[in-house]
Amino acid sequence: MSIYKCIRCGRVIDIEETGMRCPECSSRIFIKEKPARIKKVKAI
Ligand SMILES: [Zn+2]
Repeated sequence: MSIYKCIRCGRVIDIEETGMRCPECSSRIFIKEKPARIKKVKAI
């Protein structure tokens, strides 16, 4: 999954589903959004 956030309207989209274009405002500028998953990092 490639989750991106539109910088114009703030909508979070998956570009693998919608393509590299915001369905809300047709913007093509996004910032990379971290997946909504909790990562457990083992501290050494
Ligand atoms: Zn947008």
